[in-house]
Amino acid sequence: MATPLTDQEKRRQISLRGIPDLENVHELIKGFNRHLHFTLVKDRNIATPRDYYFALAHTVRDHLVGRWIRTQQFYYEADPKRVYYLSLEFYMGRTLQNTMVNLGVQNTCDEAMYQLGLDIEELEEIEEDAGLGNGGLGRLAACFLDSMATLGLAAYGYGIRYEYGIFNQKIRDGWQVEEADDWLRHGNPWEKARPEYMLPVHFYGRVEDTKEGSKWVDTQVVLAMPFDTPIPGYQNNTVNTMRLWSARAPNDFNLRDFNVGDYIQAVLDRNVAENISRVLYPNDNFFEGKELRLKQEYFVVAATLQDIIRRFKTTKKGVPGRSSFENFPDKVAIQLNDTHPAMAIPELMRIFVDIEKLDWDEAWDLTRRTFAYTNHTVLPEALERWPVRLMETLLPRHLQIIYQINQKHLDNIAALFPDDMDRLRAMSLIEEDGEKRVNMAHLCIVGSHAVNGVAQIHSNIVKTQVFRNFSELEPEKFQNKTNGITPRRWLLVCNTGLVDIIAEMIGEDFVTNLSELKKLNDFVDDKHFLQNIMKVKQENKLKFGQYLEAEYRVKINQASIFDVHVKRIHEYKRQVLNCLHIIYLYNKIRMNPAAPFTPRTVIIGGKAAPGYHMAKMIIKLITSVANVVNNDPIVGDRLKVIFLENYRVSLAEKVIPATDLSEQISTAGTEASGTGNMKFMLNGALTIGTMDGANVEMAEEAGEENLFIFGMRVEDVQALDEEGYDAMLYYKKLPALKQVMDQITSGYFCPKNPHQFKDLTDMLFNHDRFKVFADFEDYVKCQERVSKLFQNPMEWTKMVVRNIAATGKFSSDRTITEYAREIWNVEPSNLKIPPPSEPLHVDHLTS
Ligand SMILES: *Cc1c(COP(=O)(O)O)cnc(C)c1O
Repeated sequence: MATPLTDQEKRRQISLRGIPDLENVHELIKGFNRHLHFTLVKDRNIATPRDYYFALAHTVRDHLVGRWIRTQQFYYEADPKRVYYLSLEFYMGRTLQNTMVNLGVQNTCDEAMYQLGLDIEELEEIEEDAGLGNGGLGRLAACFLDSMATLGLAAYGYGIRYEYGIFNQKIRDGWQVEEADDWLRHGNPWEKARPEYMLPVHFYGRVEDTKEGSKWVDTQVVLAMPFDTPIPGYQNNTVNTMRLWSARAPNDFNLRDFNVGDYIQAVLDRNVAENISRVLYPNDNFFEGKELRLKQEYFVVAATLQDIIRRFKTTKKGVPGRSSFENFPDKVAIQLNDTHPAMAIPELMRIFVDIEKLDWDEAWDLTRRTFAYTNHTVLPEALERWPVRLMETLLPRHLQIIYQINQKHLDNIAALFPDDMDRLRAMSLIEEDGEKRVNMAHLCIVGSHAVNGVAQIHSNIVKTQVFRNFSELEPEKFQNKTNGITPRRWLLVCNTGLVDIIAEMIGEDFVTNLSELKKLNDFVDDKHFLQNIMKVKQENKLKFGQYLEAEYRVKINQASIFDVHVKRIHEYKRQVLNCLHIIYLYNKIRMNPAAPFTPRTVIIGGKAAPGYHMAKMIIKLITSVANVVNNDPIVGDRLKVIFLENYRVSLAEKVIPATDLSEQISTAGTEASGTGNMKFMLNGALTIGTMDGANVEMAEEAGEENLFIFGMRVEDVQALDEEGYDAMLYYKKLPALKQVMDQITSGYFCPKNPHQFKDLTDMLFNHDRFKVFADFEDYVKCQERVSKLFQNPMEWTKMVVRNIAATGKFSSDRTITEYAREIWNVEPSNLKIPPPSEPLHVDHLTS
């Protein structure tokens, strides 16, 4: 049994957020005042809270600059293999607090702001989220950047600097309304524009066949301007770069050929080019084949590959000749975050073959050894299949290259499987039934040396079902890399209370080695420790409860279960199942108001894609049920329902530490991994969930008895599919379900418009792809077990501790270490950057 820390050791905890010595505080205040004066051009008489936020942000940024320059210098000198993470989304959230924590200056900043009479938490709240993502996929990219920097990898994130990120969600009359996310309005102190590294990206045009090979000519050019954001590792002096491209029209745009003369119109038309980086497409797990989106996908790819090749050619070890592309895959690894940047594959082939004049087979070998592809979903509506007609107009040379890749790919299959037309059709990069389309997942699989799913169960489905033909062809290519989250943002930054009591027991190594948390198992019977865990949860609930009371004007019962379901609104995530349970609980109270009842505050939040009718209807159902339940005097404070508006990274950081019960209830086989599930587990919530995505591995790590697992397994879902799912069967068999559905259908929750939810109820009865009714009974029973355990705080808290202790696997540090070793062929942490106070010697660089 591990012993609690001595007082001496306890004091060391403070280093988690840095040691505020007087000199540092003084220096910080000086920097702050200097920025307020010279950067913001304000004095303290007229400065606004936003000015103070910017002054602090610039002061903290100053601490990054030296380390950033040196890290990049270091990479240039040592020339390690570079890792490039290509993604159409980086859901970064806020930067200030994360930067202070990773640099170890939070306590210094706290003290400095205190001495200035400013509330640092209030300043932190002024920062806009960088909402350049939709949900899990974009947030994963952000967690990976943190882990890659912390592990000392020479890594870069490449993406688009959207002028408008994910929309802001307002709820009006119970419906979702979208507002533009003008996140750059007040400027972004964390980015540095690099107009001197602007690069051209070509579109449209035609292909000319010449003696020297194919030429892509008569194109229209858009410029890509890079904006760099520093990515600090956790207290290791490493600062990597996220480079986001912004579209700029060339200055002669529309002023050359036919438009000469209409100068004003030509200037106005610059918008057409610059629209490429205007706005993030707000779909999660859904493919919408819009031309502008294809332009975005190629734009990031074309600019990024030019940058990668420039960096490859200009290492200190001299400019290599053409032949040295031989070692390109030894110096460059490119990870494709889903198929969104898939055009990188034909683009690299075009550069190698048309520009660098490599022969096709060598180019193809190098390309495949460079790329790896991560699959994020098996939902058919999410798989990208671009119409050939669109690609032919926008990227004619790339389409030719894809056809040539396909020809060789199909020849290869035909040789191995003679006379198997069905197999050829199924594996082709080009779908010929209906409108001709390019299957981007097939392109990624053939163009990569590794293909991975994001949780074990998902990787198995990828390998044995969705891409079975491909895994039969090249079984060794298919891998699993279970997702993870960064413990810096998702524990250290968002839950200081919990961090302190953990560090008190086991020290602070868990920050960079999350498996250390298993030492907490030694304390599951330590009353004092359990009471501390309860106390921290109560404090977090109180703080969040106050926020809710202010925002939603409802009275929150602090003793209730905070039952939280936050994630994108989607049929497969089954917010409807949760909603049916709420109505069931409501009926239970109403039928027997005197019976004992474990109070609950059900909190549901998430954005619906603006074009997703059913998802918007689900929000309206939740808000309508909330209206009835929250205003029923019989219910009192036993049941409250809150639809949490505008769920985003900064709101996740508030709600997750205050959660008792985490809802992870997707239909088995539909959620690739989930990462929200991991954030809750790490912050001391218990999970009610299906055997889907990473829930399976969470149960494996913590023991199934320490989660509330219910419902169909993947095999059950598939068996039910084969016999035919009949929703009516459950409706007839389960009186409680019948009552709930009859209430929705009859307009109980929407008396002004009783047929409001017809499309939703029709879906549930007649074409529910996600089988909500089939899991209803088991879900309700499982929730009863939850309520029962919550009555016993000690037993509940023991289970919480067993969960926290089992989260080690779900650190993105573990995930990135596996990518590094098993896909990128680089070793974490073999580069050690000395602190800014020490000189940089080349001999530090290897070892
Ligand atoms: C982690 C996260 C997600 C992903 O949540 P899932 O439950 O895995 O879908 C979505 N949105 C935000 C803001 C997140 O932080």
